[in-house]
Amino acid sequence: MLGPLTIHQPATVAEAAALRARLGAEAVIYAGGSELLLVMKEGLGRWQHLIDVKAIAALTRLDDAGGGIVIGAAVTHRTLERSPLLRRRFPVLAEMEAQVANVRVRNVGTLGGNLCFAEPHSDPLTALLVHDARVVVQGLGAERALPVGDFITGSYETALGADEVLTRIEVPAPPPGAVGAYLKFGFHERPTVGVAVLLVPRAHSVTEARIAVGCLGPVATRLPALEARLAGASLAALEAGIDAREGGIAGLDVVSDLHGAADYKREMAAVLVSRALATAARRVRSAA
Ligand SMILES: Cc1cc2nc3c(=O)[nH]c(=O)nc-3n(C[C@H](O)[C@H](O)[C@H](O)COP(=O)(O)OP(=O)(O)OC[C@H]3O[C@@H](n4cnc5c(N)ncnc54)[C@H](O)[C@@H]3O)c2cc1C
Repeated sequence: MLGPLTIHQPATVAEAAALRARLGAEAVIYAGGSELLLVMKEGLGRWQHLIDVKAIAALTRLDDAGGGIVIGAAVTHRTLERSPLLRRRFPVLAEMEAQVANVRVRNVGTLGGNLCFAEPHSDPLTALLVHDARVVVQGLGAERALPVGDFITGSYETALGADEVLTRIEVPAPPPGAVGAYLKFGFHERPTVGVAVLLVPRAHSVTEARIAVGCLGPVATRLPALEARLAGASLAALEAGIDAREGGIAGLDVVSDLHGAADYKREMAAVLVSRALATAARRVRSAA
């Protein structure tokens, strides 16, 4: 039983922030509820007031922004998975969204809720990292924007202030010609490992390789040393498969958990990085 609850439905972000500030620890933001209601049912958190942000029009918008895209925090995974704009211009994000949970969860779960919950075994942050996305939050004061990698600060921890609401995720246009892939592996409901890559090709090689891995530790991360090693690599070499351990996965601090021992997760990540790079390289060739 959840106990008596008051559900507030503010029409604007300013109203939601004012409610957060006024009600303090008795209130929590409620979007799709796919995580929040489980937390409450399990007795892990108790609030008397739910601030439902789904009625805030600005949070449910998906806007074309001159090559980039602006995703309202309350846009569902399912909307993103099916969005023609996302599929056309950000296929790696669409590919990732289609693999989140199951269709029931994707129908209610929102991108903003996923980021704010900051569960380490999640998909979106990994794919957003290779797109250099940023998030915008708003409290009683002015809006502030920060790179998505700075928003999630740890396991179930974010940089969100006590009165703040995540309002939108801004994804800039990828470099011209960029092609990528998102791959994941898991045997529970959530991913054991997720990998996103984005390649910027020129002729038969790549000028830039962006690589991110998720679920190994508290927060998904880019692999800058491996990215530097692969700048200038030939597409044929990537297609044949590279060893992602040296200067990449081997140096990461990996956590053992219910999804696997650290060594196992590290090995799976190396395999997935190699496969994702090969997949993206193949896609470059077939698009040419
Ligand atoms: C069975 C199952 C399988 C799953 N599998 C996967 C998976 O494979 N990959 C994956 O990535 N995820 C997975 N998830 C997680 C799922 O993606 C998230 O549950 C969903 O996106 C959360 O969004 P929500 O809108 O339901 O958030 P809610 O449950 O409403 O909220 C989650 C948290 O975020 C806060 N919050 C929500 N929106 C805002 C906002 N705009 N501003 C400030 N705070 C906010 C809430 O207060 C709460 O603390 C799974 C979940 C379930 C139940």
